Amino acid sequence: MPSLSRPEARFAVDLVKQCCDLAVAVQSDTVGAFLEKEDRSPVTLADFSVQALVSHRLAEAFPEVPLMAEESTSQLRGAEGERFLERVAGYVRKFEPSANSVSVRRWIDRSQWHGGSSFWVLDPIDGTKGFLRGAQYVVALALVSNGVVEIAVLGCPRLSLKPATAPGSLATDPAEVGSLLFAVRGEGAWLTSLEDEDFLQLSVSNCEDPRHTVALRSFESGHTDESWFERVVKHMGIETDPILLDSQAKYAVLAGGYAGLHFRLISPSTPEYREKLWDVAAGALIVQEAGGRVTDLAGKELDYEAGFRLENNRGILASNGKLHEMALKSLQATK
Ligand code: AMP
Ligand code: MG
Repeated sequence: MPSLSRPEARFAVDLVKQCCDLAVAVQSDTVGAFLEKEDRSPVTLADFSVQALVSHRLAEAFPEVPLMAEESTSQLRGAEGERFLERVAGYVRKFEPSANSVSVRRWIDRSQWHGGSSFWVLDPIDGTKGFLRGAQYVVALALVSNGVVEIAVLGCPRLSLKPATAPGSLATDPAEVGSLLFAVRGEGAWLTSLEDEDFLQLSVSNCEDPRHTVALRSFESGHTDESWFERVVKHMGIETDPILLDSQAKYAVLAGGYAGLHFRLISPSTPEYREKLWDVAAGALIVQEAGGRVTDLAGKELDYEAGFRLENNRGILASNGKLHEMALKSLQATK
């Protein structure tokens, strides 16, 4: 059994479970309602609702620990933004009776903190495009202290990770019960369903032969370099078809042993893109605690002290550890 003795760990697991219920509630009765951010990426009722709930609950339980989260209220201005905010407040109220459009705006704003040595980091809906497509998305919450991820929780409402699932045939049927993955640094990574607490310890695959491994990448072609991905897969001699998934569900699949490699390459159309802390921190600790390795594409450790953009890293390579060095060499050879 995992140790949930740290109050932050128990709290984070329960909170992420509630957030998954909230995201599922939003998804089941709003079809495709979203606003556009400045970078033209979508943000939904679920992104704002989950962020508001997490911000409020964490501020109550751990008032001294700030929260760094993805969304800001800048899209919630003007008549359309106000109407959207009212709907957000309606969803949050199902879980927190004191929610209204004024408090919810304050809670979202409170999670805009970017700095300091110890903080929570949240991606309320990682994989918003997957959420809108009815595909994979996760709620990702982590506690970072002095540049190290201490606690990580991934709530994956549409990912049913079962030990018997074969690579390439992951169950993502919405009728299935989703998964929750959890890690405390130094204490392993654990999997349970979202409906109970029957924890299984996660372990990456022990495959050393690239021919028999499976590689993961983003579903969105604009979030990766498809051509480089194909060159690396070919160079390594990987024979199995890749798995394309949205969000940090990829780290969950890797930690569960269903794939051996995850390549997060930089899209040629956005060469200045840097990874965001909330897109990687939770998933990375879960993979590492399952026995895997996570670096950038040059083999550098991820520097979580550089700010919310990982300025000192380029892309991400996550693996089962055994295939890491070979993948780094292939990345260099095919660049
Ligand atoms: P994924 O589903 O793994 O592609 O990751 C989704 C996340 O990618 C979103 O939460 C965004 O923060 C992030 N993202 C947005 N634009 C880009 C981009 N140009 N390249 C890589 N990732 C991006
Ligand atoms: Mg994200």
